[in-house]
Amino acid sequence: MAWDFETDPEFERQLVWMREFIDREIVPLEPILGEIPVEEWTVVKRSLQDQVKAQGLWGAFLDPKLGGPGFGQLKLALMSEIIGRCMISMTIFGVQAPDSGNMELLAHGANDAQKERWLWPNLRGEISSAFALTEPFHAGADPTVIGTTASRDGDEWVINGHKWFITNASVADFILVFAETNPEGRPHKHASVFVVPAGTPGMNIVRDIGTMSHPDTTYGRLGNHAEIRFVDCRVPADHLIGNPGDGFVLAQQRLGGGRIHHSMRWLGQAQRSLDIMCERAVSRTSHGKLLAQHQMIQDYVAQSHMEIQSARLLTFQTAWKMDKLGASAVRAELGMIKAFVSKVVLAVLDRTIQVCGALGYSTDLPVEGWYRGTRFGPIGDGPDELHKSVLARTILKRYTPVEGWPTEHIPSRRPAAEAKWAELRAAAGIT
Ligand SMILES: Cc1cc2nc3c(=O)[nH]c(=O)nc-3n(C[C@H](O)[C@H](O)[C@H](O)COP(=O)(O)OP(=O)(O)OC[C@H]3O[C@@H](n4cnc5c(N)ncnc54)[C@H](O)[C@@H]3O)c2cc1C
Repeated sequence: MAWDFETDPEFERQLVWMREFIDREIVPLEPILGEIPVEEWTVVKRSLQDQVKAQGLWGAFLDPKLGGPGFGQLKLALMSEIIGRCMISMTIFGVQAPDSGNMELLAHGANDAQKERWLWPNLRGEISSAFALTEPFHAGADPTVIGTTASRDGDEWVINGHKWFITNASVADFILVFAETNPEGRPHKHASVFVVPAGTPGMNIVRDIGTMSHPDTTYGRLGNHAEIRFVDCRVPADHLIGNPGDGFVLAQQRLGGGRIHHSMRWLGQAQRSLDIMCERAVSRTSHGKLLAQHQMIQDYVAQSHMEIQSARLLTFQTAWKMDKLGASAVRAELGMIKAFVSKVVLAVLDRTIQVCGALGYSTDLPVEGWYRGTRFGPIGDGPDELHKSVLARTILKRYTPVEGWPTEHIPSRRPAAEAKWAELRAAAGIT
């Protein structure tokens, strides 16, 4: 397949607009974002979102057949990189996780009435959502084994179980809950997804969990991760998405492009971090020369640049391949880029902290906060070990075992080499 590295000029203009808009309207707010009153932010956010909508850049992750503008993954990758410069921009562009993934799930699995009720208001930014799969007492890396159950009782489903680390659950208007309905269908047809609206009796949000990113978190903050107990929590039958047992397949729908967007946002953050490293390196002197003139610092700069560029190309290629061949053709690659890029961004952030010394470690620069916020990367959305394992198994499938010596065993290859040489000599007329 032919491929090139050009972005079409019309879309390039939209990318330029995005970058200028984020740098002009959102980045300057960073030092006071935590202090802005929520009610005022809600109003300002709407006005910023309206500007994005007017540019046709809102909620760009959905395909046209699912109700979105259909930019495709490559364009979304370029957009996500710009959004990653300032993560709050996700909300302004309507691509915030976990809502974006939840909307993909609903777009694929919900019926028309369910879309009307939950998908379209979520896409318009009027309501928000969370996705509850992970549990404290079962490995989140293996969703084929869960403890939460849903059983049918007349016109209702009754949910019992325990979830945790559910992003935005304490502020969301509804939660998509992954629960076992068909134990006989293990490993992949055992679970279903239910919409549980906020405030449903029996759904108890126990707490928002303190994390590396927000150790002293206050309950009900956007971006928190909640622990939830379901005790005889009843939802009407029409709150089941798809058919009983569809949960695993539906949950996969939320992940495809999401890994590309996550990766590119991380790379946007990595590049901004490298900018901070380089500015410091050309500004500060140690032992009679600029930090930038010390070879080990040059190594940090060069290594970071090489890693970012290779990660970008790997991600772009995966996005391009997904646009051409579909998500199933790039399953292993999607895990590969997530596992690769999550390490690259943390390495670049870590080097930036190092080059900036005590200043880098302090909260006077944003890098330590980015590091704490991004450290979830190799864990969340399935740990990197799992993605690498899938990748390795995909690669290994291409190989067949051999008896005895390896194919490349030089002594074993000697007779064939001598025969080939005799053949070539004869063909060249050497006697
Ligand atoms: C910030 C953040 C937000 C999150 N948001 C959500 C959310 O909104 N909804 C939700 O449902 N979940 C969410 N999660 C949970 C996340 O999806 C899980 O943490 C992740 O899937 C790993 O599951 P676990 O934490 O139970 O780790 P475990 O499954 O217990 O794994 C622990 C470690 O064991 C190793 N391991 C596990 N399996 C394998 C394997 N097959 N091969 C090799 N090593 C392995 C890895 O080192 C892994 O890190 C979030 C997590 C974080 C950190």
